[in-house]
Amino acid sequence: MVYSTTIFHRLRVYILAMQAIHMTGSCLCGNIKFRITGEFRNLCNCHCRSCRLASGAPFVAWGTVNRSSFSFTAGELREFISSPGVRRGFCGICGTSLTYRQEKQPEEIDISLVTVEDAPFLKPEFHVWVSEKLPWINSDDGLPQYQEWRSG
Ligand SMILES: [Zn+2]
Ligand SMILES: [Zn+2]
Repeated sequence: MVYSTTIFHRLRVYILAMQAIHMTGSCLCGNIKFRITGEFRNLCNCHCRSCRLASGAPFVAWGTVNRSSFSFTAGELREFISSPGVRRGFCGICGTSLTYRQEKQPEEIDISLVTVEDAPFLKPEFHVWVSEKLPWINSDDGLPQYQEWRSG
């Protein structure tokens, strides 16, 4: 019994550790749900016109995850080719903008941070496409500002 109790304890610690890197998210209506099992990188606010129109918002907060650590758990994502080689994913029912992926980078996918339940803890670290920023948005928050993509 001591042996099995130890195994149970280790399994429980393992499950708790796994949950710590599990994040979930959804669109506004809940039709689409997803799970992320890896870490975000490239947390940023994008001010480009394309993101604005795709989201209906003055700018969009994005984060990149490995495609292998991202999976849908409910719903069917709709995709729209917004520029050559770029697919933007959205909910076909409520219209929430959820994903951004490029054909030339099939191993990664960008997720709209506001769709992640942990969004309050996923703070953008820089701004991109400030050259297209709306003049009434003040992005002067001390974070690095890049005129286009962050290079390097
Ligand atoms: Zn929806
Ligand atoms: Zn953008």
